[in-house]
Amino acid sequence: MAEPGLVIVGSGFAGICMAIKLKEAGHHDFVILEKAAELGGTWRDNTYPGCACDVPSHMYSYSFELNPGWSRMFAPREEIQDYLRSCADKYGVTPHIRYGKSVTALEYDDERHAWSVTTDDGETLRTNAVVSAIGALHIPKFPEIAGRESFAGPAFHSAEWDHSADLTGKRVAVIGTGASTAQFVPQIAPAAGHVTVFQRTAPWLHPKPDFAFSPRVRRLLRLPGAARMLRYAIYWALESRALGFAVHPSLMKAHERLALRHLEAQVPDPGLRRALTPGYLIGCKRVIISSDYYPTLTRDDVTLVTDEITEIREHSIVDAAGVEHETDVIVYGTGFKVVDALADRRILGRGGLTIQDAWKDGVEAYYGITTAGFPNLFFLLGPNTGLGHNSVVFMIESQVDYVVECLRLLSRARARALEVRPETQRAFNRRLRARLDPLVWNAGGCRSWYLDEHGVNRTIWPGFTFEYWARTRKVQPGAYELIF
Ligand code: NAP
Repeated sequence: MAEPGLVIVGSGFAGICMAIKLKEAGHHDFVILEKAAELGGTWRDNTYPGCACDVPSHMYSYSFELNPGWSRMFAPREEIQDYLRSCADKYGVTPHIRYGKSVTALEYDDERHAWSVTTDDGETLRTNAVVSAIGALHIPKFPEIAGRESFAGPAFHSAEWDHSADLTGKRVAVIGTGASTAQFVPQIAPAAGHVTVFQRTAPWLHPKPDFAFSPRVRRLLRLPGAARMLRYAIYWALESRALGFAVHPSLMKAHERLALRHLEAQVPDPGLRRALTPGYLIGCKRVIISSDYYPTLTRDDVTLVTDEITEIREHSIVDAAGVEHETDVIVYGTGFKVVDALADRRILGRGGLTIQDAWKDGVEAYYGITTAGFPNLFFLLGPNTGLGHNSVVFMIESQVDYVVECLRLLSRARARALEVRPETQRAFNRRLRARLDPLVWNAGGCRSWYLDEHGVNRTIWPGFTFEYWARTRKVQPGAYELIF
């Protein structure tokens, strides 16, 4: 049985970053377990037409590995995956990755203060620490609609795009109108025979300031400091949006005005405009960035349906108004199971405590990274660290640095493990909830995947990202119990 010092689960943006920073800190004794045959996480899995970043690429990348060569302001997914591959190669991470290893269980051994990590092929690794870098949005969510299984044609989720399904001339039904749908509908509409988009809740949309960087600009960005300056400019432009998100919802009104002007400029028909006007405060759900979604909905061969779907039949979809829409292909743009990504796993902590028991009142952690009862288990992009306004890569880097600091603390103290004190975690989460209560995600008048089934926000960091960075720069030893 192999015994690496640390196991990272997942090789997306978070897992690769963790590995790079571990090596930089002198830890080479780790493995990355990756369930798939390729690295890249989100950017490997989502292959739908038009898949691209909706945060400017110069910010949606590592701060220590700027890429002056991004082809566009918002790079397509292939380019993002190439970037991750090249980072893994450049920093010597690739040899640490073990592909085809899906982790089925994590179990803490109280005697040895070590973790057992079991994979679906029956192998078990023993290790001192585990970093979960599995991401939050990767388990496709399908709607519970009567008759869904009876549909005879191709039907697939946006994150599991069926490239063998030829949409040319077909009647395609798209269910859901989130960020993914807004990207692929403009791509599939020209070739499809007809596209019917089923919208439950109208999303808010801002224009996408996307453009290709000319070879000359890319050369300029290679000058010393140029790409860094651009990154700073993007960072502060995005961070300024946190005023409305993190300070007071009324400050979101300016964002609403921009979105309404965008809608008015792109959708001349008042009826369609009305159907596309959201009935909640902007920012309550993730704001979609697109300049081609609205124009696509104005095409003659695209229809927006706002009546609820009541039934799916062999060759059609029936809505609440009784209209039967003949359909050849269904694409589900219905998002992901969020919290379950962690809570569904077999994770046993101290004294056999299951993660389900630890989180029976809801998923929570300390700065989203550590959780009481589970020593030396670290989460990247864990509870309440998602963002509505800036790049999550910034959050990942803060968390990765924090984990490295925790490892330093362990080695300085010659301790085997550290565990966040339950009272520290509780107090942290009490403050977090009090802060979130009046903010737009909770008080904006919508129901989103940011909230759990009890309406508690378990996904979003409610402040500025620089605040998160400042608060996680140092590990407060008092927050932890050291185990020797
Ligand atoms: P999503 O934002 O969760 O949107 C899901 C859509 O499906 C919503 O419109 C939802 O309607 C609808 N829906 C869900 N269940 C339904 C049902 N039973 N009947 C009818 N409609 C239903 O999912 P997504 O578009 O895949 O995006 C998920 C997240 O991935 C985004 O928020 C974003 O964070 C990320 N993303 C990022 C990028 C990027 O470029 N960085 C691109 C794509 C996605 P309701 O609004 O009524 O719930």
